[in-house]
Amino acid sequence: MEFETRAIHEGQQPDPATGALTVPIYQTSTFVQEAVGEHQGYDYSRAGNPTRTALQLCLASLEGAEHGAAFSSGLGATTTIMHLVNPGERVVCVNDVYGGVFRMFSQIYQPKGYEFDFLPGAEIAGSIDERTRLVWLETPTNPLLNLVDIKAVADAAHAAGALVVVDNTFATPYLQRPLELGADVVLHSTTKYLGGHSDLIGGFAATNDHTVAERLYFLQKSLGAVPGPFDSWLVLRGLKTLAVRMTRHCENARAIAEFLDGHPKVEQVLFPGLESHPGHELAKRQMSDFGGMISFLAESQEEAEAVCARTKIWKLAESLGGVESLIELPARMTHASTADAPFAAPKNLVRLSAGIESADDLIADLEAALVRSAATAGT
Ligand code: PLP
Repeated sequence: MEFETRAIHEGQQPDPATGALTVPIYQTSTFVQEAVGEHQGYDYSRAGNPTRTALQLCLASLEGAEHGAAFSSGLGATTTIMHLVNPGERVVCVNDVYGGVFRMFSQIYQPKGYEFDFLPGAEIAGSIDERTRLVWLETPTNPLLNLVDIKAVADAAHAAGALVVVDNTFATPYLQRPLELGADVVLHSTTKYLGGHSDLIGGFAATNDHTVAERLYFLQKSLGAVPGPFDSWLVLRGLKTLAVRMTRHCENARAIAEFLDGHPKVEQVLFPGLESHPGHELAKRQMSDFGGMISFLAESQEEAEAVCARTKIWKLAESLGGVESLIELPARMTHASTADAPFAAPKNLVRLSAGIESADDLIADLEAALVRSAATAGT
């Protein structure tokens, strides 16, 4: 079955008890047993819940994975995956990652003796050695939208016996499937495009490696960062419209990037869909479209902050991937924790998450904010 069909039906049958079309929200903490140990596959909702199972089957299928585990947040999935590594082992991480992931790695795992190297995507494959246990990628990266060659990194990592994790939050499986390119684990913040409506926090990990999967399921129930049944259901509902939403996100982002490119108040547009973007050719190879995220450099931090404060349709907020367009200043918001790192987010960088409203309205709103911020700069 094609992606769009699986997104709606995979892992979901009409409820056998009532015929309900959509998977019920099994809002229960526990399950009654006929006799000790005799149950219908579920005993306690941290270990397993039928609504969560439907989500796991559906989203794993969209990533081309045999196994998937849902988590309470993207960071819940991240910390669970980090338990595949031991103190003293080396982790190589792309140096443009979500600020919360950088904060976890540098402030929680590094002090415990895990060895980290944060490197530009192009240097990662060459830096992998026999001490490397895990390679952590985002592509496109957050917030600079750089591209990393998943296959090249996976080949180098596997030659050294290391696992490759790809955070696929920005691209979604509709645009990019890292496991098909050689990654071992794909990770999501389902909070973003997969949920799609800015109304939940969730995470996910998928893999085709049976040993890794067994460990992840064990860690999922043992560490306990699991989503509740209602949030699982919300993600499952979001998946049904993922394909149509992503098509529109991509169309809008392309139009907005083209408007910003060459605008006199914009120093540089970072969007893989522009031919001038250094990752454009790689994006064409490993993604089916360029996604809904755009970053741009304003003339100064003051200009960047003024634009963020003045848009009306674009809401000034952290997060991304919802139907609503969002604007933010990574250096002071999502990536504040990278402030002291050599790869801190530029202070004049604005990040846009293009929603699915009218592209004309979104462009008009940005245009007005750019003009007004220029007119009032310094006042
Ligand atoms: N990965 C990326 C690329 C993100 O942007 C985020 C959050 O913004 C996360 C992971 C963390 O996800 P969550 O906020 O669901 O914990």
